[in-house]
Amino acid sequence: MPNNRPARPRACPLCGAPRAEEYKPFCSRGCRDRDLLNWFGEDYRVPADQPPDGTADTDNFTDE
Ligand SMILES: [Zn+2]
Repeated sequence: MPNNRPARPRACPLCGAPRAEEYKPFCSRGCRDRDLLNWFGEDYRVPADQPPDGTADTDNFTDE
C-alpha cells in the first residue's frame, strides 16, 4: 500500500491519549494491562462451568 498513513499523532487505542514510547501502543501501563486483561477475559474464559471430562454424565445410563 502506498502512503496511506495520516500524519496524526498516534494515540492509545484504549483511551485516545498520546501513547508512551515505553508502553506503546498504549499511553500507560494501566491501559496496557487493561488491554491484556481484555484479551484474557475473552479468549481464556476458563471453562469452569463444564464438568471435568465426562464423569458427570456416565452415571446417567438408563436401560430402555
Ligand atoms: Zn490509554
